[in-house]
Amino acid sequence: MIVMKFGGTSVGSAGSIRAVVELVRARLRRKPLVVVSALAGVTDALESAARAALRGTISVAAIRRRHVDVLRELDLATTLIDPEFRELDEILRGIQLLGELSPRSLDYVMSFGERLAVRILAAFFVKSGITATAIDAYDLGLVTDSGFGRARPLDRAYDRIAEVVLRERRRGLLIVTGYIGKDERGNVTTLGRNGSDYTAAIIGSSLGVEEIQIWTDVNGVMSADPELIPSARSIAELSFDEASEVAYYGAKVLHPATIQPAVSKNIPVRVLNTHAPTEPGTLIIGRARKSDGPVKAIVCKRGITVVSVVSTRMLMQHGFLAKIFDVFDRQRVVIDLVATSEVSVSCTTDSDENLDAAIRELRGFADARVQGRHAIVAAIGSGIREARDVPARFFGALGRERIGAEMISQGATRTNLSALVRESEVSRAVQALHREFFDDDAACVAAAARPASRRKAPLAGVVRRGRS
Ligand code: ADP
Ligand code: ASP
Ligand code: MG
Repeated sequence: MIVMKFGGTSVGSAGSIRAVVELVRARLRRKPLVVVSALAGVTDALESAARAALRGTISVAAIRRRHVDVLRELDLATTLIDPEFRELDEILRGIQLLGELSPRSLDYVMSFGERLAVRILAAFFVKSGITATAIDAYDLGLVTDSGFGRARPLDRAYDRIAEVVLRERRRGLLIVTGYIGKDERGNVTTLGRNGSDYTAAIIGSSLGVEEIQIWTDVNGVMSADPELIPSARSIAELSFDEASEVAYYGAKVLHPATIQPAVSKNIPVRVLNTHAPTEPGTLIIGRARKSDGPVKAIVCKRGITVVSVVSTRMLMQHGFLAKIFDVFDRQRVVIDLVATSEVSVSCTTDSDENLDAAIRELRGFADARVQGRHAIVAAIGSGIREARDVPARFFGALGRERIGAEMISQGATRTNLSALVRESEVSRAVQALHREFFDDDAACVAAAARPASRRKAPLAGVVRRGRS
């Protein structure tokens, strides 16, 4: 058995949906279960519709037209999606009436993209001669906690999914919603943006499938975001560790939590291109082949805020760090990089939620400074462990572009080397690093042209990395 997950761009148009059906048809022998995202752009549109309802305007006409156009092109009845639009209309009216948009109602609204997509896809499979059933992941047993916007499956979800799939498979090919679940009270939850990858991994792990396939719009995981670096190359193999780092540091081709359920059962994950299915893509497995160079990918994460806690009085005192992290922990602020110096502790986070409350608490016992608009740029690859020249090359490349690294970090597993830069400089940083590690000719030219005085990049701070 395999799980085949198709992202929004793979089901964004009638043409793509036709391609999906043929890809699945060619793999029926491997007993696929299909996981689907919302049509490209629909989740964003639903979020805007929820916010518009809060401001008093109900506007779903464009979202409806988008789905109706696809249904018409596929020659399917446009009434197929009427029940979902009736329900969506009701909830939006509720938001408008109450003048209140809770994380719970936002998740409910944002779940409709996947719910619409599975119904359209299943109908088109049936029309194409393949018996198929649309099913919402929560009806398949995907029960989550109540962390709206970033829900996680409860342990018992895994057994339940295995049970229900076994029963439901008699109804033919299962087309399951990505991204959504329900908590124990029956509220719809979402797993975070790009969460359909995570759904595929949860279901794949529940069933112990032979492979989880993530079908997207590029040739697998690439050496950098191809939108930023058109010459980026596909990576043939990534280890689970490398793939987690690539996803965590912002390559949206994979949701950061995707790998974890696959790791627990040692299930290979293959990232493939719906529009170029013969391309080999990327295979993510426990032990991956090495690449030619030490670095496999250059990734970046924007929207980073730096919090620096300064207290000459208390810094070196017993329990001071614990006090700082206790604040972050209680306020559920996830910390990424941590740097300590004699007079300050600097931490980075990508979450805005509760950050103000955390800062207020920190200011109760120290001076806390906040700087927004930063980004983390990282080189990922297990080869970094053995190659001693990676830090010199990494900071040399940034230095030649006169990009200052404000914090640096090499994780304990040493599969990544990362630096904090200004957000305005991150695209240039990725380009410089990609040139250094992947474009041999450009790297040689740059090295030869480099004046000796510019060989050092300015660094500040020795860093440990933690994720709280
Ligand atoms: P899907 O709709 O299939 O889930 P996403 O848009 O979520 O697709 O993810 C695929 C996109 O991720 C690509 O189009 C690409 O622009 C972006 N991306 C960012 N970093 C990388 C990377 N390192 N490798 C491949 N794609 C990347
Ligand atoms: N549709 C959701 C999103 O746009 C989930 C996904 O695409 O994986 O984030
Ligand atoms: Mg995605």
